[in-house]
Amino acid sequence: METFDYIVIGGGSGGIASANRAGMYGAKVLLIEGNELGGTCVNVGCVPKKVMWQASEIYETIKRDAKGYGIYPHVDNFDFSELVDNREKYIKFLHGAYQRGLDSNNIKVVKGYAQLVDNSTIEVNGEKFTASNILIAVGGQPSALDVPGGEYAIDSNGFFELTKAPNHLIVLGAGYIAAEIAGVMNGLGSKVSWAFRKERPLRHFDKMLADNLVEIYQEQEMAIYANSVPAKIEKNGEEYTVTFENGQSLTGDCVLFAGGRKPSVDNLGLENTDVQLDERGFIHVDKFQNTTAQGIYAVGDVIGKIDLTPVAIAAGRRLSERLFNGQTDLYLDYNLVPTVVFTHPPIATIGLTEEEAVEKYGEEVKVYRSRFTPMYFALNEYRQKCEMKLVCVGKEEKIVGLHGIGVGVDEMLQGFAVAIKMGATKADFDNTVAIHPTGAEEFVTMR
Ligand code: FAD
Ligand code: NDP
Repeated sequence: METFDYIVIGGGSGGIASANRAGMYGAKVLLIEGNELGGTCVNVGCVPKKVMWQASEIYETIKRDAKGYGIYPHVDNFDFSELVDNREKYIKFLHGAYQRGLDSNNIKVVKGYAQLVDNSTIEVNGEKFTASNILIAVGGQPSALDVPGGEYAIDSNGFFELTKAPNHLIVLGAGYIAAEIAGVMNGLGSKVSWAFRKERPLRHFDKMLADNLVEIYQEQEMAIYANSVPAKIEKNGEEYTVTFENGQSLTGDCVLFAGGRKPSVDNLGLENTDVQLDERGFIHVDKFQNTTAQGIYAVGDVIGKIDLTPVAIAAGRRLSERLFNGQTDLYLDYNLVPTVVFTHPPIATIGLTEEEAVEKYGEEVKVYRSRFTPMYFALNEYRQKCEMKLVCVGKEEKIVGLHGIGVGVDEMLQGFAVAIKMGATKADFDNTVAIHPTGAEEFVTMR
């Protein structure tokens, strides 16, 4: 049985990042991946999603916005299958890039699904390997819709298998994926109906964001159905009818369900180890990513903390710094993680929502807001709004939350996140001279 310093199960965002960092320090590393390198993000997540988002933005610019500038482009064809083909070629290129990165750090890669045999041994394709350090970075997968006919709904993986744009897409769910795919396909010309269970989507985000998103999606002719709990799906020929608990129904040629994800822990052999799951079924870890088993660690979506690629990467790299570069106190701080929802227009957010801040700090909270029409729309009939908010606390007005929805906020957030992570106050923002004319300047000129 071959012995390694580090065995990484899962070649996605967290696993590859951690394996490479360990390899850079000379550790003997084995990485096991059951599917394509890159995991969810590269194959059925961030990357193909961003390509589709970009396509949708370009199409909206051409169809809707160009004429305000006196530009009348002639679009005689939009070939969805060509877009999908080109997207998949790009993903293939990325597989090669990941393999080259692993090769350069001397990581041994085995293709297959690994099972833990005990706290220091794994088995893959009938062969056993051992290491005193094992990382579980197996990610997650879409949850299924548990109603009669739920199997007729595709999930985000199924969305990326489409080679033809649906005529009428019915989106069920209220989170990142539902909001993003509804926007992408609406922009690309499908009729989209978006139904969610409660009064608004993205309920864990600042309310301002969802309120604007719903308004803007409706301006863009998306049909929105709040308070709609799916009860059943029926198939009639090429069409599907979703009936909701409130008695309403919708018929379309494609139904997509995006109602959260679950960890990929079945068949991992965890029962042969001391690894324990939390009450939601995710792997329980402490702040150093240690599981309850000596020498076994977990990062990424499988721990169910913050399911984002840069979070999995940051946790994986810090773990390798700790294990193989003597940085024994290093861990990832899961507070103040910036995130963007690639809706149309995008949403950018970091820190506490206004509601959370008020609950935590009461009357010490002061909120600044700005609502305006970005110059992008200045010459257009359609004047989409951008809205931004700063949530501040205490006499010094420390910024504990920053939220925005509108053209360009996706690219604005990263820099502001650095400032907020460093403890910026409203006065620090005020003391920074604006860049004009941009949307970002609103964040440093709020009164
Ligand atoms: P994964 O990337 O899922 O990798 C896990 C890997 O482990 C997989 O390749 C799997 O095949 C493999 N595996 C599983 N079991 C085994 C086993 N037993 N043996 C061997 N291999 C195994 N995040 C962002 O930050 N920005 C975005 O824009 C974004 N968009 C997204 C869009 C969609 C549609 C989805 C679904 C997710 C998106 N995410 C985004 C989230 C992001 O993709 C995940 O947070 C990230 O991929 C998690 O990384 P991971 O390493 O934990 O797991
Ligand atoms: P989310 O956790 O974002 O949202 C799922 C929501 O769907 C729930 O909060 C719930 O909202 C609703 N829901 C749950 N069950 C049902 C049901 N049976 N019927 C109808 N609605 C239901 O999950 P997603 O699947 O959208 O995304 C998974 C994760 O992937 C995200 O949390 C994010 O971390 C990551 N991701 C990140 C992206 C990015 O960075 N841009 C993009 C895509 C994904 P309610 O209770 O209000 O009904």
